[in-house]
Amino acid sequence: MSTITASEEERVVDHVPKQLYIGGEWRDGEKGTLSVEDPATGESLCRVADGSADDAKAALDAAVHAGPEWSRHPPRERGEILRRAFETIIDRADELALLMTLEMGKPVKESKAEIAYGAEFLRWFSEQSVRIDGRYAVAPNGQGRLLTMKQPVGPCLLITPWNFPLAMGTRKIGPAIAAGCTVVVKPAHETPLSMLMLARILEESGLPGGVLNLVTASASGETMSPLIADPRLRKLSFTGSTEVGSKLMQQAAPNVLRLSMELGGNAPFIVFEDADIDAAVQGALIAKMRNVGEACTAANRFHVAGSVSREFADKLAKRMGAMKVGRGTEGDVEVGPLIDARQRGKVAELVDDAVERGARALVGGRARDGAGYFFDPTVLTDVPAEAHLLREEIFGPVAPITGFVDEDEAIAAANDTQYGLVAYVYTSNLKRALRVVERLETGMVGLNQGMVSNAAAPFGGIKQSGFGREGGPEGIEEYLETKYVAINL
Ligand code: NAP
Repeated sequence: MSTITASEEERVVDHVPKQLYIGGEWRDGEKGTLSVEDPATGESLCRVADGSADDAKAALDAAVHAGPEWSRHPPRERGEILRRAFETIIDRADELALLMTLEMGKPVKESKAEIAYGAEFLRWFSEQSVRIDGRYAVAPNGQGRLLTMKQPVGPCLLITPWNFPLAMGTRKIGPAIAAGCTVVVKPAHETPLSMLMLARILEESGLPGGVLNLVTASASGETMSPLIADPRLRKLSFTGSTEVGSKLMQQAAPNVLRLSMELGGNAPFIVFEDADIDAAVQGALIAKMRNVGEACTAANRFHVAGSVSREFADKLAKRMGAMKVGRGTEGDVEVGPLIDARQRGKVAELVDDAVERGARALVGGRARDGAGYFFDPTVLTDVPAEAHLLREEIFGPVAPITGFVDEDEAIAAANDTQYGLVAYVYTSNLKRALRVVERLETGMVGLNQGMVSNAAAPFGGIKQSGFGREGGPEGIEEYLETKYVAINL
């Protein structure tokens, strides 16, 4: 893949609408504009509208206004709009991938993978929109009849993080629109450009004004809290950190909002002695290094059977040490920058803490000097149990490896966290695989594979990784209420 020119970069950034999208109109933000940075250079790419609490209220007004018509809109047409948007995203994947790399940092090849993954939610939910059904049953006493119907929840607030700038949006927008809900979307201030492009694509695909409203804002708390308190809002779907998610749950309590919470992770990656070690190393590279390690599903702790831990660590270190670090727009780069200086500082602190406590860096261990927020791919062995990075989400290209003696110890270590999003297990023993999978306290498990994300599957966590599911047949249920009608015959 060749390196992209500066004029190509300018062209894709110029192409993005930079205003708020409210009630089918593009308009300025009351607070002026906010800067969007390229994390590979630290320089500003452009400015986008900075919305106020009043702008957010106008967005909710528009969503409330459009709600009744949209809830009755023929499901087939709702699905066809999503389908057209899916096709447009695929047609424009190169441009959208470059834009994503510029605002988020990951290599263009990975941005393309996210574009395909993100678009898939629109295709999947375009197909689900015509499969919203109910039930008709004879009451047990034979007298009455029981009818249940599914209806859209109503106006929703969708808040998304910076790490997957498109897919975290389509995972919510696809099912909400398919179900007949109207929405206010608030992307992270670091990466609003992909979402602004998505709003434009949905507009061009025929989505009526007011169904999707988009507010970008530098002060997310003060802009969003009045909406969360507004009795017209019916649902909040949030993807982000457990800390912010927990705060938003408290804010949502007085309004008794329906909630979906896709929060942080601390994924264990378990390798048993009977595993195919080369396959486990390959899976580890994906589970660790996808998205520069900045994924909620990123393998955060490697628990490897003592007898194979040396071989695994050496092979992983060799592969990670060979990965080219640089700006994601350069053809052969495999590891882009972290999102900002704060995130890079946090990764460095976690690595320093582990090393001070006795861990050994087989490769990497340092932030890079110069512009941009780069951190070298790092493999740590002999990581002691007290090291902070075994408890906290690292969100960077760092793989800490610890050993275990038997299955019980591996499972206990894997479950020893307040998080419960995903776990990875490598073993060639089917009985062990099922035994272990059943005992892991996570919403998802990758069994002999390093990636679980799939639009057709229910993505989500337990414990402090949240609740609710995105994708699969379950995904649309988050945006539907069940009404029961008692029929007297
Ligand atoms: P974050 O700091 O929690 O922010 C997430 C979103 O919430 C952003 O749009 C942010 O806006 C907004 N926000 C922050 N404070 C808010 C407030 N008081 N009121 C309303 N909105 C507020 O998380 P992040 O750093 O962007 O993302 C990384 C985290 O997301 C990690 O913990 C990761 O594990 C998690 N994540 C989870 C999943 C999953 O499916 N479980 C998927 C991806 C990421 P601003 O940034 O503009 O303030």
